Amino acid sequence: MTSLRDETVALLQQLIRAETVNDGAIDSGNEWRAAAVLEEFFAGSGVELTRVEPFPGRVSVVARLGGTDPQAESLALVGHTDVVPVKAADWVHPPHSGELIDGEVWGRGAVDMLFLTASYAVIFKRLATSGFAPSGDLVFAAVADEEQGSRAGVGWFSENDWSTIAADNVLTEWGGARLGGVGSTAMTVGVGEKGAAPRRIVVRGDAAHASAPWGRSNAAVTLAKVIDRLQSRAPKPRISEQWLETLAALALPAELSTRLASPDTIDDAIDELSEHPELGELAPFVHAWTHTTVAVTIVEAGSKVNVIPDSGSISLDIRVLPGVTAEDVEGHLASVAAEFPGLVSVEGDWFSPANESATTTRLYAQIESTLAEFVPGAKPAPILGVGGSDARFYRLHGANAFGFGILSPGLTFSVARNRFHSANERLDLESIDLTVRGLDHVVRNFLSA
Ligand SMILES: [Zn+2]
Repeated sequence: MTSLRDETVALLQQLIRAETVNDGAIDSGNEWRAAAVLEEFFAGSGVELTRVEPFPGRVSVVARLGGTDPQAESLALVGHTDVVPVKAADWVHPPHSGELIDGEVWGRGAVDMLFLTASYAVIFKRLATSGFAPSGDLVFAAVADEEQGSRAGVGWFSENDWSTIAADNVLTEWGGARLGGVGSTAMTVGVGEKGAAPRRIVVRGDAAHASAPWGRSNAAVTLAKVIDRLQSRAPKPRISEQWLETLAALALPAELSTRLASPDTIDDAIDELSEHPELGELAPFVHAWTHTTVAVTIVEAGSKVNVIPDSGSISLDIRVLPGVTAEDVEGHLASVAAEFPGLVSVEGDWFSPANESATTTRLYAQIESTLAEFVPGAKPAPILGVGGSDARFYRLHGANAFGFGILSPGLTFSVARNRFHSANERLDLESIDLTVRGLDHVVRNFLSA
């Protein structure tokens, strides 16, 4: 029998070659091609795929293996089949070739997330055709449109047809990267996503000729002061249970670890961490995992060199931690605006809350023991992503959703992260082997209880 790894690699190559590029347009994606690959993969196996096509060409396929115990928890393996666009000129090898070169499968989607989607299909088919009788339902879903908000995928199911893909527990992208260097045994598990609250601050001033600026309210100057205030009054850190677990897994020097565990000392400790030779690259992430962040992104004021600007604006990319509400964001910005009476207002009300799944759940415990079995000494490092995977819909419906994988030692957190949406996306055979066998282990054990 072909190994799990080789079967996964072959399917992954076909999925890459399906060229399911989602450029954001509702008529892009062409996930029907990935669906056709999967239909062929399952043909003759006895597995029945449900085909759902909410928009022309935007096909998702779902299969369900019924559990023996109606009370037992169900588990879904949810992989998206769309990929983001490429700039072919930046690639060393053709981006949709799916070639295996020097032990790596090359191509758009190799990492995000076709290797997982392929792994899910391979495991599901093996279990379904081997007479495995899961306690709870096992669901396989290969879904469209994750890269553009899931309008034609899980988002569509969420609003129109939840029962087809529903489950109590979910595995999806992504995890299994070493946090803190090649030798680290802290392995990431995605447990949640930060939320977002983009806002625009609008600043007013008096238009005047720039040859006599004295006493004029200059929108550009006010804008600079507002930015300075935003920096100095940045939201305070929050130390969550989950961050403490990650910190424990990281096994940093005791003194640094203690300081990273307290809201009073963490900000200085992050500065210190940034100087560390191997762990320094983690500093921005440690900061993002423990703070609601307010990043100034677009700043505009003035249009003519000889005119004092009477208006300006600052765009803010705000990412919120679990528990932070729209009111919290508005309160924070209002307190900054209050320092500039009559000159500053805040625009925008879009808010998507953060979400997370508890690390005290049975599935998380199974992930923990599987990681330890495959990587000696491995400890899970539960981390927050920066939004919008399909996990959020499942969490909204009350499911526990985790990002699971087991990557090879060289694919540390920063290295793996940089493979997403970038040129020369590729994945090594060891990562595929560890991940598909690890997933098989999690699924069998979780559904054998
Ligand atoms: Zn993805």
